[in-house]
Amino acid sequence: MAQTEVLVIGAGPAGLSAATELARLGVQVTVLDREAEAGGIPRHCNHSPYGLREFRRLMRGPTYARRLVAEALAAGVLIRTGTTVTALHPGGAVDVTGADGLETLTARAVLLATGVRETSRAARLIGGEKPGGILSTGALQGIVHLNGQRPFLRPVILGTELVAFSALLTCRHAGITPVAMIEPAGRITAHSPAIWLARVLRVPVLTGTTIAEIHGRTRVEGVQLLSRGDRREVVTDGVIVSGGFRPEASLLRASHLEVDAGSGGPVIDVWGRLSDPAYFAAGNLLRPVETAGWCWAEGRRIARAIHAALQGRLPEPGGARLRVASDAVRLALPQVLPLTTKKDNGAADKLQLRLARPAKGRLRLMQDGLCLLDRRIDSLPERRITLPLPSPRTTSEITVTLEDPR
Ligand SMILES: Cc1cc2nc3c(=O)[nH]c(=O)nc-3n(C[C@H](O)[C@H](O)[C@H](O)COP(=O)(O)OP(=O)(O)OC[C@H]3O[C@@H](n4cnc5c(N)ncnc54)[C@H](O)[C@@H]3O)c2cc1C
Repeated sequence: MAQTEVLVIGAGPAGLSAATELARLGVQVTVLDREAEAGGIPRHCNHSPYGLREFRRLMRGPTYARRLVAEALAAGVLIRTGTTVTALHPGGAVDVTGADGLETLTARAVLLATGVRETSRAARLIGGEKPGGILSTGALQGIVHLNGQRPFLRPVILGTELVAFSALLTCRHAGITPVAMIEPAGRITAHSPAIWLARVLRVPVLTGTTIAEIHGRTRVEGVQLLSRGDRREVVTDGVIVSGGFRPEASLLRASHLEVDAGSGGPVIDVWGRLSDPAYFAAGNLLRPVETAGWCWAEGRRIARAIHAALQGRLPEPGGARLRVASDAVRLALPQVLPLTTKKDNGAADKLQLRLARPAKGRLRLMQDGLCLLDRRIDSLPERRITLPLPSPRTTSEITVTLEDPR
């Protein structure tokens, strides 16, 4: 069994920033990534804005990824690419497979930073045939930016999260002209200025519309759109199924670690510590989906928590658990809040929330009949909501409720 002080799984912005910070603090760190090159998602996002928070510069994804890798290597981090982690065991032992075959690595602490994946066409229950030419944004960007290929010429884009506009930019770069952007909700998911990009590129955005069926024998030939009861056929040669992000949590779900039903990621305390205190997590694995800058800062913060844990400076695990008791709230984290008032050593100072649907109303955090927090919320799903972190008085459960008049 090979040993290291800290193992980081995932060489995206969160994993690399954490590893760099730990190495600068004098910790021996190895980063593992299943891809042939380190850098995570930004490697194939050949557009800006990346790097503003981290480097005070507007960068394209690949330049930003290379900079993160260079900083990690300069700090003394060992990066092993082409290495997939296949199982997590209690106490910080992980099984990996790569060019050297199967091995088990052990560490005093393991940071999970495996990011997110987009929801596939199959999981969205879109009917019709199964021709070629249906891609996620990530796959499209890999094909265009890493392989230099053009998978279609006139696709439709399903979804209007920020990533769908990233797909629009990729299409423009590759000389691909999307026929339309399709959004099942009544308005776009990204903040409204994003729609200007579609307008400038003359791509119609069809809200209140779903793709009922995809047609085509070997390649996509058309889609059937359903809009307020009306069906119509649209000729197209591809479908970009964008967004619908879910944490890349297959490792977690197959492990002994506790998973949060709302976020789909791990249950963490304010230090990013999981139900087995040898494990920590940072980045998009915690909640789909944040910017690279946010994930980078979170990685650095959790690195300080890991460093404190290695030195025995973190309080014992435990505290009050958050329980979401509203169908309008999808997730609230960190899910475990300690009783200690000393929340330094890289502790989170904010509660993060995401809605499951558009909602407007009073959000309350209640414990033992006492209101710990009362705020008015007016937001859409997938938008970042941050609130002050409450200080629980006991370990009793804290319920999160949202009085939504609709
Ligand atoms: C299409 C698109 C466009 C975007 N555009 C922007 C933008 O313009 N600006 C911006 O700030 N943000 C943007 N983002 C968001 C940003 O890229 C992400 O927030 C950021 O990359 C998340 O970092 P991360 O470290 O959490 O995960 P990731 O970058 O996803 O990295 C996770 C890494 O974990 C590895 N991994 C997963 N499982 C395993 C395993 N079992 N074993 C080994 N390795 C594993 C993966 O290979 C991957 O390299 C975009 C995202 C997408 C999808």
